[in-house]
Amino acid sequence: MTEDLLARRARLMGPEVPTFYRNPLHLVKGEGVWLWDKAGKRYLDCYNNVPHVGHSHPKVVEAITAQALTLNTHSRYLHEGVLDYIERLGATFRHETTQAIMVCTGSEANDLALRMAQAVNGKTGIIATDNTYHGNSALTSGLSSRRPPVGGYPQNIIRVPAPDSLAPVGGSREGQAQAFAAHVKAAIAELETRGFGFSSLILCPLFANEGLPCVKKGFLDPTVAAVRAAGGVIICDEVQPGFGRAGEAFWGHEVLGFAPDIVTLGKPMGNGHPIGAVFARPDVMRAFREVFAYFNTFGGNPVSAAAAMAVLDVMEEEGLQQNAREVGAYTLDGLRSLSHPWIAEARGQGLFFGLEFLTPEGAPATAFVADVIEAMLERGVILNNIGRNRNTLKMRPPMPFTRENADMLIAALQDALNSTPVRA
Ligand code: PMP
Repeated sequence: MTEDLLARRARLMGPEVPTFYRNPLHLVKGEGVWLWDKAGKRYLDCYNNVPHVGHSHPKVVEAITAQALTLNTHSRYLHEGVLDYIERLGATFRHETTQAIMVCTGSEANDLALRMAQAVNGKTGIIATDNTYHGNSALTSGLSSRRPPVGGYPQNIIRVPAPDSLAPVGGSREGQAQAFAAHVKAAIAELETRGFGFSSLILCPLFANEGLPCVKKGFLDPTVAAVRAAGGVIICDEVQPGFGRAGEAFWGHEVLGFAPDIVTLGKPMGNGHPIGAVFARPDVMRAFREVFAYFNTFGGNPVSAAAAMAVLDVMEEEGLQQNAREVGAYTLDGLRSLSHPWIAEARGQGLFFGLEFLTPEGAPATAFVADVIEAMLERGVILNNIGRNRNTLKMRPPMPFTRENADMLIAALQDALNSTPVRA
């Protein structure tokens, strides 16, 4: 059956369509933190942030159904739904990013944000980290680390070394904030020399794709000062850390304590329904509207707005940010209690965790981590890897994750670590 589907995918979608796992999963059902495959096997989902309030949450399904039965139109008719949503979500920011353009994906949100920044200062130079992912559009894929676009990386983009927990920029954790800022300053100067000028710095505030390094409040202060001094715009990609996942704060940038000019949103926003957004300060929005006549057919349509609103309702009703804080701390304690000679660091923020492995020689244990992911799948737990060398296990479960779920994850991990032969 799996072979049939793989063969059909190759025939109908072409080669190299990405899948997870050596034997890709064929999922047929989801509920809360659980997933089921075609054979009826149940998995604890410790990886997916898209089903933010839980797979197939009935409240979100009902909201989508009710609105779809009533009306769905494109975004150039008037409707309260999108306005109510922007008003409600805008109130969660501690700064003035209160106006929004609704889109359908994180890629679109970032693409739009980068163009907003260009409208603000008339420059085109962009800075991102060298191990990030911000999307699949022509502009955002130029920031992506995996494969350079045809013709190489665009000259108006400079990728600075990403923060790292165990191999910090500048050589020490204490000096990493200043060293990172120094790279950003040098990149700003280089963009001026190249004639593009410096427009924006885009980053995920928790550096999720970079490996979720330990970065604390104030980490970006010297960088933010350098960007502001150069007249640049700070774009915060909250596609992964946003919507309460960070536990102690609703937004990742609050954890670090800085105020971005533009915030981009996606994945968890509609619990699987495709919706994203760009929130910006009114002056940023005005500058953008003076330059671009942007509209998005599906962005913020009545059904999408209803789905996104239901996600906020469920978060409040079920206390999910609080849950992320409490169960997150409990899970991190569990990860820190694991025993294996190759564990280099267990780290986390709310319900978002990284477990990094190095060989005794200090090399990234990439192959071992790949084997552990497969061993976990056998044990009915879904997780994945992150970081430059893919030697960090990534865990980012749906928000209703419980202590019992955490106990199952930790027990399965210890068992998988005990029985997976070490290899670098
Ligand atoms: N930003 C970040 C940080 C992401 O991780 C992703 C997707 N993994 C995106 C943007 C792109 O979002 P989408 O796939 O919805 O376009």
